[in-house]
Amino acid sequence: MDNEQILQIIKSQKVYHEKHKTSTFKERKNALKRLYRNIQLLKQEIFDALKTDLGKSEVESYMTEVGLSLNEIRYMIRHGRRFAKKKRVYTPVSQFPAVGYKQACPYGNVLVISPWNYPFMLSIEPIADAIAAGNSVILKPSEYSPSVSDVLKKLVDMTFERGHVDVVIGGKEECSFLLDQDFDYIFFTGSTRVGKIVMQKASEHFTPVTLELGGKCPCIVSSDADIKLAARRIVFGKFLNSGQTCVAPDYIYCHASVKDKLLAELEREIVVQYGVDPVSNDDYPRLVNQKQFDVMKGFITEKNLLFGGKYKQDNLKIEPTLISSTFDDESMQDEIFGPILPIVTFDEIDEAITNINSRPKPLALYVFSKSKKIQDKFMTQCDFGGGCINDTIMHIAFPGLGFGGVKQSGMGAYHGKTGFETFSHYKSILDKKCFLDLPMRYQPYSKLKYKIIKMFLK
Ligand code: NAD
Repeated sequence: MDNEQILQIIKSQKVYHEKHKTSTFKERKNALKRLYRNIQLLKQEIFDALKTDLGKSEVESYMTEVGLSLNEIRYMIRHGRRFAKKKRVYTPVSQFPAVGYKQACPYGNVLVISPWNYPFMLSIEPIADAIAAGNSVILKPSEYSPSVSDVLKKLVDMTFERGHVDVVIGGKEECSFLLDQDFDYIFFTGSTRVGKIVMQKASEHFTPVTLELGGKCPCIVSSDADIKLAARRIVFGKFLNSGQTCVAPDYIYCHASVKDKLLAELEREIVVQYGVDPVSNDDYPRLVNQKQFDVMKGFITEKNLLFGGKYKQDNLKIEPTLISSTFDDESMQDEIFGPILPIVTFDEIDEAITNINSRPKPLALYVFSKSKKIQDKFMTQCDFGGGCINDTIMHIAFPGLGFGGVKQSGMGAYHGKTGFETFSHYKSILDKKCFLDLPMRYQPYSKLKYKIIKMFLK
């Protein structure tokens, strides 16, 4: 798409917004209902596109992309009206006679930039939250999942009036051009590196941003954990989408005393869930491209390999692979984002917490332990976006919780009510009544007025 076409879309969005077409929740709800219906209509095309771009199976595509998106839309259809209502706040006596309230208002024209790993869900969920809050949206999906981008465009074009929601197909260049324009809000999901560029560019126009970024998510396994269950849930969270999940456990950080037992259970679980030859398993997704495939292969050495390590060049698949690591190893420097799972050990809980907190703040943290004291210690003393106790990644599928990172792993959050709030500006309104006008605040001042003021303001 060329720059002239992009400018034309932005213009039509501004015109649309100025008509206040989505100022009532009824209009927004109708749009959400159309979106819900049309996703169901295009379901097979969405599955096919996810298969083409990432090799995802239909079950995985429904569970992690289509189903989650439908769930978020349905949540907004059900609860959006309540979120959009004026919220009266307690009015202090010093303001008498008056009523104070907060009014959720759309920001206006929102830019949503999405990545390739969950290309459908990570585009549709922010769109659902943004339009429930009354905004218009331009979506820029990733160039690395082109088939899904095409279906997203088809879906958006058949669902929304032009100017309400539009798709800009393109890569870095188009994205960069979009970021030079003046949006009312930018919602970005992607890498920490590009997140920095987004924030810099947004500052030119004082545009508020939500950044949903990445990082190395630790998965702690304490000596008292249910090792069998931990292994099952870790294998699920790590190797879903071949490890290309922002909240996947990036590394296991386990107590040295349980490493061997955990390793044996992880190996067993990998075979149970993915079979003896995962690279030939049709339900096991592939790496997105040759570059990612090569990066992943580079993490595996003869010396560190514990389990797995086989790969197939023709379908870009790498087996779920376990490697032994220390914090100095290459695999422990940046987010892995693939089916390689390093195992690092600790001896003392305090040492583990210090090590986690000395690194960039992760998007998620998981702790497996039966002890409430140990669970609470990690949950309160480590810095991270969100997480689970005795599970992995499932907090992302819980609209009531909200989802987001902190510092290097992001800022702001969405999903459910939090998503509505993210895309709303809350105007603070004081509605002063006219039947009485207390004189204390007006000049000329007097001792009596001063005394009364001090009575109210203390
Ligand atoms: P990315 O940052 O490379 O790309 C994201 C988007 O930014 C794409 O649409 C791309 O076209 C655009 N982009 C890329 N380079 C740009 C540039 N120089 N200027 C302007 N725009 C540019 O991320 P990705 O590789 O698509 O996704 C993987 C990353 O996303 C991982 O780090 C992962 O952890 C993170 N992620 C985070 C979440 C979350 O919810 N926090 C979810 C999924 C992925």
